[in-house]
Amino acid sequence: MAKLYFYYSAMNAGKTTKLLQSSFNYRERGMDTLLYTSKFDTRFGESMVTSRVGLTDKALTFDNELDVFADIMNRLTENTACVMVDEAQFLTKNQIEQLCRVVDNLNVPVLTYGLRSDFMGEPFEGSLYLLLWADELAEIKTICHCGRKATMNARFDASGNVIRSGEQVDIGGNERYVSLCRKHYISGQCKKAVA
Ligand SMILES: [Zn+2]
Repeated sequence: MAKLYFYYSAMNAGKTTKLLQSSFNYRERGMDTLLYTSKFDTRFGESMVTSRVGLTDKALTFDNELDVFADIMNRLTENTACVMVDEAQFLTKNQIEQLCRVVDNLNVPVLTYGLRSDFMGEPFEGSLYLLLWADELAEIKTICHCGRKATMNARFDASGNVIRSGEQVDIGGNERYVSLCRKHYISGQCKKAVA
């Protein structure tokens, strides 16, 4: 039986690296994967999935309007091992339902990768429904400057002050975000204190 997987984490934990590594492993064994990423994320050019350690691959893109069930059904071949979705936090509730139908009706595994919460500590729509509906959840861990597990994403300005409000989606570059533990997210301490 196919399953819906959600691999979640704070920013810069290596989600995309894991996605690309898994895809590579399938292809090395002669199987195909369907890769999707968000149209929102044009950091590395549209239609590319690029990890910070330098791996890269071509991907299909989704916006909020795409019927992902129909799109996947049209692209499936006998050789398709699974579907992988990067930036899955940007999926809508409808699209999560569509991915559930891919798993349940087409019997194709779907592996999604995304952020658990936004910079205000609020859920993204896609992540919320993935946390509720996925068959398997797995956390990809990264650490705060203090060494604790980082679970939150802080957005900060040029002076290093944490920004607490604004648009949920503002992808410009990783330098404006830092992954923190809850304690340092709440206190707003973005860096290790200099002794
Ligand atoms: Zn910390």
